[in-house]
Amino acid sequence: MSERKVRVRFAPSPTGALHIGGVRTALYNYLFARQNDGDLIFRIEDTDSNRFVPGAEEYILESFKWLGIKFDEGVSFGGNYGPYRQSERREIYKKYVQILLDNGSAYIAFDTPEELNAKREEIKNFQYDASTRMQMRNSLTMSKEEVEQLIADGKQYVVRFKIEPNMEVHVNDIIRGDVVINSSILDDKVLFKSADELPTYHLANIVDDHLMEVTHVIRGEEWLPSAPLHVLLYRAFGWEDSMPRFAHLPLLLKPEGNGKLSKRDGDRLGFPVFPLEWHDPKTGEISSGYRESGYLPEAVINFLALLGWNPGTEQEILSMDELIKLFNLEHCSKSGARFDYEKAKWFNHEYILMKDNEEIADMFIPVLKEHGVEAPREMVVKVIGMMKDRVSFIKDLWDTCKFFFVAPTEYDEKTRKKRWKEDSAKCMTELADLLESLDDFSLEHQEEVVMKWIEEKGYGTGNIMNAFRLTLVGEGKGPHMFDISSVLGKEETINRMRRAIDVLK
Ligand code: GLU
Repeated sequence: MSERKVRVRFAPSPTGALHIGGVRTALYNYLFARQNDGDLIFRIEDTDSNRFVPGAEEYILESFKWLGIKFDEGVSFGGNYGPYRQSERREIYKKYVQILLDNGSAYIAFDTPEELNAKREEIKNFQYDASTRMQMRNSLTMSKEEVEQLIADGKQYVVRFKIEPNMEVHVNDIIRGDVVINSSILDDKVLFKSADELPTYHLANIVDDHLMEVTHVIRGEEWLPSAPLHVLLYRAFGWEDSMPRFAHLPLLLKPEGNGKLSKRDGDRLGFPVFPLEWHDPKTGEISSGYRESGYLPEAVINFLALLGWNPGTEQEILSMDELIKLFNLEHCSKSGARFDYEKAKWFNHEYILMKDNEEIADMFIPVLKEHGVEAPREMVVKVIGMMKDRVSFIKDLWDTCKFFFVAPTEYDEKTRKKRWKEDSAKCMTELADLLESLDDFSLEHQEEVVMKWIEEKGYGTGNIMNAFRLTLVGEGKGPHMFDISSVLGKEETINRMRRAIDVLK
């Protein structure tokens, strides 16, 4: 095959929210396009008007914007091969349907749903194919005049692909190798319906891939059964020479590993299967999204990239640029990829650790506001630096760090029983007086002075620190004590201590 510019496409049908498996398909197409200096096309396959869901196209576009997957051409991006929405390409498809009718690769069929049902009753495992087509009402069994008359009368018909039986069909798949089937298992697929004057998925998909000069079809495994039919269609059009290479990606499996990951698994186990929150316009149902659940887009990309592919090394943290460099279809696995949700959280945690504290502050300040907290930015950034290694989500910083921003009003009963001793009120009063006398309230200075005081008085460090913690935090958790007191500042530290002594004594 001559050297063509790599052109790949992501071609969703706008039937609802985009499943996370679809996001992975788009990502692999994106990585492949970038790596090969090729083009990535965004095509909308909306020839099945019954399944059209308003808002789905916008949802899909917004998902990719959030994730940083960029398209070079297509719906909303423009380009020289448009229109890119299949419902706007009717006239084009009609022309190609005619070519197949003219060269004998397709025929017109008038069988009504009732007639087809009757046949199904009559013949076990009925399939519309070489073994049955001559018993049906179609242009192969009727005279030309009869066919023309029925069309002139406005009778509805479909165009079917005439599949020759008993031929070996080879699908040369980059991931799966040579996949061979016998054409007899295929039925004479409907390619076009007069009712809405629209082609079916198969015809539109092949015609568009050809006209848009697509070089590689990278898509989910669920489309593998359609691939032999697609190969035969290329052949029927005489386009074998420019036929794209296929790569069918492994399925995403349930966390337990048995069967395909579904939305119900997400509901059952409490994780999103959609990139963004989705409001179903028909049922009103709301499904959670990765974005709204607090995931960083970089983490989602990294997580998805490794579901069905690996770089051949142990490296797990990969930026988009690294993925573009390292990705290759040959390293994609044939077998399904188990969806490990805990791993998604782990990636998010790792990306939070790598992220700049200032950037995290931008995301955390709105969370603080929601809880009615207005804190100096500088303090927020410090707290984040101290606490981010304890969370997997930015929103979880609230629960982990709220004691920095809101003084305790209650003191945990269990901690109090264990940590607040007979002499605690006395010791804390002394400590509060000592801290109040300091001009330098830096972490280092506090530590030095307090440790000396403990030693001189012969107090136990553990006892002092535990009681000190209870006064500032209200319970037994949190980072190093002087980290807390230095962030809180002198005034707030002393206030908290005096109030606690008052309540607890
Ligand atoms: N419209 C199909 C889908 O929804 C496209 C399949 C393909 O990539 O050929 O996934």
